[in-house]
Amino acid sequence: MSSGIQKSSVAIIGSGPAGLMAATVLARAGVSVDIFEKKTGPGRKLLIAGSSGLNITYDSPVEKFAEFYTGPRDFFDQLFREFSSEDWIKFIENLGIATFKGTSRRYFVETMKASLLLKAWTSELDRLGVRVHFDQELVDFSTAAGGGGVVRLRSGSSGEESVHEFSAVCLCLGGGSWEKKENPLRWPEIFMRKGMQFVPFQSSNVGFQVAWPEKLLTEVEGQPIKNVVLESSRGKRSGDLVITSYGIEGTPVYFAGIEGVVYLDLKPDSSVEALLEKCERVRENLSPMRRVKKVLNLGEGALALLFHMTSPSDRGDLRQLVSLVKRFPLELLARQPLTESISSSGGLSWNEIGVDGYPLMLRRKPGVFVAGEMIDWDAPTGGFLIQACVSQGVSAGRQILKYLGMNASRDK
Ligand SMILES: Cc1cc2nc3c(=O)[nH]c(=O)nc-3n(C[C@H](O)[C@H](O)[C@H](O)COP(=O)(O)OP(=O)(O)OC[C@H]3O[C@@H](n4cnc5c(N)ncnc54)[C@H](O)[C@@H]3O)c2cc1C
Repeated sequence: MSSGIQKSSVAIIGSGPAGLMAATVLARAGVSVDIFEKKTGPGRKLLIAGSSGLNITYDSPVEKFAEFYTGPRDFFDQLFREFSSEDWIKFIENLGIATFKGTSRRYFVETMKASLLLKAWTSELDRLGVRVHFDQELVDFSTAAGGGGVVRLRSGSSGEESVHEFSAVCLCLGGGSWEKKENPLRWPEIFMRKGMQFVPFQSSNVGFQVAWPEKLLTEVEGQPIKNVVLESSRGKRSGDLVITSYGIEGTPVYFAGIEGVVYLDLKPDSSVEALLEKCERVRENLSPMRRVKKVLNLGEGALALLFHMTSPSDRGDLRQLVSLVKRFPLELLARQPLTESISSSGGLSWNEIGVDGYPLMLRRKPGVFVAGEMIDWDAPTGGFLIQACVSQGVSAGRQILKYLGMNASRDK
């Protein structure tokens, strides 16, 4: 692609959910849109997210939604009023993709995978005339002399650079998680060169290492510990865990988020007394461990914890063993690295973002907007990550329309 000036059009950099949504809002309002993506296809992380069941959002009243996020509360409150989980579900269904509400109030696409959603979404962008340029990495940006933005792009395959001017630019460069090939990510350097504050990425929503006894791993590596309540210094969270070769994964652990001892309730629906009574009712002359195994209906993973991570005296004392079923201490050691994490905390600092009437415009580079996981916010798993990215994509798109003096009414 040659260098040139393309006034009255908007450049979106990055083809994740935030970028695709900003492009959709703009194109539906009649703006000419170009998406530039450094990879050779769109929405790679969205596709990865879909590999374990694409959780698109969460069922929570709009006024409570912001509570799940780090970052400025007022901003997130306004964000979800502007584009809520209901709006997002409607958007997906209008693309012809069915959704459903699963357990724990999470919404999923019916196929569980992201590929059909991505295909329908990019077809819609194609229909709207949006041009997508792959193998184009943003290497610099600035404000254009007469307003708007300028981007410098480099082709990954040929190394050729080109400079383009647009009426506005929206950067949707994504967070620091799961980037196995580009480590560390190159884009933060662009901002740091300009003296902008960047909060270093840290892994979030990620598994932890646990010093499992070898025998335990031999027996139950890869097995779930179903329906537990995990208590940490951040509070309690229920869900399923998975025992892995290095440690433990699962929503309750992601929620705990910090190293240290956490407590597992392996039978959250019963009290110590009720469990004890059940075990004592067994007539046969069984050891405490065998009684627990026989009547408490614990899975293999939970039983392995009790068998391999307790002392012989604990295992020989029924009351003590049942107390451990209700409050099993587990030490979370180091967290898994960024390359293994679902999301990242950190990113472009909020100090760099927000101008009167334009909450997602860069303070030092008017005409350049940002959206998505590249900004310093985080949220638990549960569909909250994608929801915030698409809501920010909508918001950035509408702010750009306002910046261009255009009417946003056609973007519904
Ligand atoms: C294993 C896994 C499972 C997940 N599961 C879920 C889930 O079920 N539900 C949920 O809500 N979230 C989930 N997520 C998180 C979710 O995928 C992300 O929050 C979301 O994709 C972020 O969207 P984004 O548009 O901000 O960034 P991204 O999707 O990361 O997109 C950014 C794009 O910008 C491109 N880019 C970066 N730098 C440049 C540059 N210099 N020039 C040009 N292009 C550039 C990237 O190649 C990328 O395509 C999961 C993540 C992972 C890793």
